[in-house]
Amino acid sequence: MDGIETLSKVSGLGKNEVGKIWEEVKANQKCLRECEGPHDFEKEGEGLRAEYRCRKCKGKVRVHEYGWYMEGLKHGRAST
Ligand SMILES: [Zn+2]
Repeated sequence: MDGIETLSKVSGLGKNEVGKIWEEVKANQKCLRECEGPHDFEKEGEGLRAEYRCRKCKGKVRVHEYGWYMEGLKHGRAST
């Protein structure tokens, strides 16, 4: 059983759908990794469904990831 098959079983989604989501996740990670940085996040959506999309690389992150990123930037500035 490969990773996609396992995720399909656990999530109840079809293998094609899991594969599609996985491709999107990988593409998003690639955008974020290749961003010239620092990310310039803009909020999309509200509440628990809110996400943050970078104006530069178009990569997006969840609320808690955004929180840690901003914290890291702040501490990075404080340590120089
Ligand atoms: Zn970015």
